[in-house]
Amino acid sequence: MTALLEVQALSRDFGGVRAVNRVDFQVKQGEILALIGPNGAGKSTVLNMVSGVIPPSEGEIRYNNQGLAQVPGYEYAGLGITRTFQNLQTFDDMTVLENVMVGMHTKTKSSLFSCGMNLGRARKEEQKIREQAQMWLEHVGLASLAFAQAGSLPYGKLRLMEIARAMVAEPTLLLLDEPAAGLNHTETAEMSKMFQDIRANGTAILLVEHDMDMIMAIADRIVVLDQGTKIAEGTPREIQENPKVIAAYLGT
Ligand code: ADP
Ligand code: MG
Repeated sequence: MTALLEVQALSRDFGGVRAVNRVDFQVKQGEILALIGPNGAGKSTVLNMVSGVIPPSEGEIRYNNQGLAQVPGYEYAGLGITRTFQNLQTFDDMTVLENVMVGMHTKTKSSLFSCGMNLGRARKEEQKIREQAQMWLEHVGLASLAFAQAGSLPYGKLRLMEIARAMVAEPTLLLLDEPAAGLNHTETAEMSKMFQDIRANGTAILLVEHDMDMIMAIADRIVVLDQGTKIAEGTPREIQENPKVIAAYLGT
């Protein structure tokens, strides 16, 4: 299968410290690739580079065979790359629906209310975004909370809201940074099911996650980082039995 995302010799330095060191991997169309590793391994830094939040120090990121080095971060959603963050990025004073609609506004090039766009067209566009957001709220089981203030929702539901926000722009590649952090077993299982549905609809997922039950249940392949370097790559089964991986997690 062709690579949707290809990362080559990707590195990132912070001051004199190398957080990510010459990492290579590919995400193929419609697969779930898990990126795992102990705390500080460089997982979030990789996601931040792949989503255009920070530039690489060295190396290359190619998406649909196109280098992303010259593409500004705000254009990534339009290209089909969206993400969630390790820490919630919630607008507490806005409704759940509005929080999800934000995901689509990042995709449209100009602001909806920019001068030059006539009001009728802007209203139509707004309506389309609203419908799309409502559809995704239904998918993640939050339709009944659409008009609740986001700040009033429990943590687990906010995590789902953020996934709806990332999906509303209909990405080809969804980047998730510890989506199950802080969720209970039932919520994690429901989320796993949702990611499988998303994959079945053709969206590839690059998943950073600590929950091994989730990883083993849904990852097609796994890449393991330790101290910035890739130490293993393989199927969940191969990774589970890999002595280097076991050693990295035990800190030996
Ligand atoms: P992970 O997500 O795997 O836990 P991170 O990518 O967050 O790891 O961090 C990798 C390393 O890079 C850590 O040593 C961390 O302290 C460092 N790091 C991450 N972001 C920054 C930053 N903005 N400035 C300085 N150091 C950073
Ligand atoms: Mg992290």
